[in-house]
Amino acid sequence: MNLFGSYDVVVTGAGSSGIVAAIRAAREGANVLLLEGTGFLGGLITGGRLTKPTGLINSKIFHEMLDRCVGYKGADGRVRESYWGKYTGTFDAEVMQRVIIEMVEEAGVEVLLRANVVQTVMKHSAVHGLIIRTKSGESLVLAKAFVDASGDGDVAALAGADFMLGREADGLTQPITSYFRVLNVNVPALIADCEANRADMWEVVYPKEAGNRNEDYAMAVLLTGFQQRIKDKVAEGFDWIIPKDHITMKTGLIPGEISVNVTRFQGNGLDDRDLSRAEIEIRKQAYCAFDFLQRYVKGFEDAIFLEVAPKLGIRETRRVTGQYILTEADVRGNKRFDDAIGLCNSPVDVHEPGGSRAIMDHVGIGYGIPYRCLVPLKLDNILMAGRCISVDEIAFGSTRNVPACTMTGEAVAIAAALAAKRGVSTSQISASEVQARLRELGVWLGTPGEDVPDVLKQAS
Ligand SMILES: Cc1cc2nc3c(=O)[nH]c(=O)nc-3n(C[C@H](O)[C@H](O)[C@H](O)COP(=O)(O)OP(=O)(O)OC[C@H]3O[C@@H](n4cnc5c(N)ncnc54)[C@H](O)[C@@H]3O)c2cc1C
Repeated sequence: MNLFGSYDVVVTGAGSSGIVAAIRAAREGANVLLLEGTGFLGGLITGGRLTKPTGLINSKIFHEMLDRCVGYKGADGRVRESYWGKYTGTFDAEVMQRVIIEMVEEAGVEVLLRANVVQTVMKHSAVHGLIIRTKSGESLVLAKAFVDASGDGDVAALAGADFMLGREADGLTQPITSYFRVLNVNVPALIADCEANRADMWEVVYPKEAGNRNEDYAMAVLLTGFQQRIKDKVAEGFDWIIPKDHITMKTGLIPGEISVNVTRFQGNGLDDRDLSRAEIEIRKQAYCAFDFLQRYVKGFEDAIFLEVAPKLGIRETRRVTGQYILTEADVRGNKRFDDAIGLCNSPVDVHEPGGSRAIMDHVGIGYGIPYRCLVPLKLDNILMAGRCISVDEIAFGSTRNVPACTMTGEAVAIAAALAAKRGVSTSQISASEVQARLRELGVWLGTPGEDVPDVLKQAS
């Protein structure tokens, strides 16, 4: 078989967690290959148009990415607040793509797009190589350490890792949702409509100092509700084909741009038939929601349907079982851990598997994510980052958010780069060494007794 190359660290998946992992590992001195199955960088945060990190940003690399987006006038750098907590940094997907390309190239990361990992090469329980499938055929990639940032835990699963999938009760995962974007919305009129119907809205966030132009609201508006309006219009005969009883929207960079989160497809994100059906059904739902908005919500009268996000919005697939499984009680109880690698205040955001509702619960000042959640049981030389880490089904509602994904990417990169530098396996690297480097970089770890950032202490 063709040998594609031999590296210090190979990161699979160029989503938010993989990008951060690849850049950090390279900055720590590793020779890094970043493998990605699609033809673009960013995964869900670019291709899925998931442009609002829910929670405060703690990863230093991701912070830098957002700062650079702000520099290009493509992100809102201010701290904002909703009922579920504080957050910062809504950004534009294409500006983010530009920043990612810039930072990956500056760090000297080698990128291979349209390369799917299809097999692992093992030496006993340690991952030694990957087989990738590309247009040219199959090739072997060797490395000293591997990071699985595939979102789906593909690499760990191929290596034989244990994993959890969906709810313990029935195996159902959170539904698949793709955002769709519309242009030419009259945002002040939309906000006035939401304010006039406040009882039907549970989230109306916008800059109170804003004026009466669409551009005053760019990247700074969040609206959730319309539950009663949907019910009423269905009673009047509107054919609402979407298994979700409310709508969430956010403004984008383009004046009058609104991204809508409402589609919902219940399926297994690892099943080919479900994935294919989801692509079609979600589009039909998006067209239905667009018709609803144009007819019944002020500001949408002259709206133009721009796109359904090109990357399917898969919320949940495998959660790879690690040395520790973070629990709902840990998250809600703001538990600190001796081996924590990041303080996380992302809310518990669970879209009801098989149902129409959602919860979005504030978690206070946050909890620590243990390093052990990134280390798969029984395997060596492979670490997990992003939405596939070891957590229970409710804790997942918090750790799947971008702030958490990027923290885990940064932590495993440090461990992988250190292992490669020393010529040892990742199991030889201790959590305390990773923590020491993160602390040096200024990351809030979430360890017992550690202080919290001022912004979290400030009363709302
Ligand atoms: C509808 C929806 C709304 C959301 N809203 C928010 C929100 O408001 N705020 C928030 O913070 N978070 C939100 N999230 C969650 C968040 O966007 C994701 O959980 C996060 O971006 C995942 O990052 P990741 O790097 O783990 O995975 P991904 O972004 O999924 O990246 C994984 C990458 O790996 C690649 N890949 C997969 N398998 C292979 C393979 N075998 N070989 C090579 N490459 C592979 C994929 O193509 C992909 O690019 C939302 C998610 C969805 C779906």
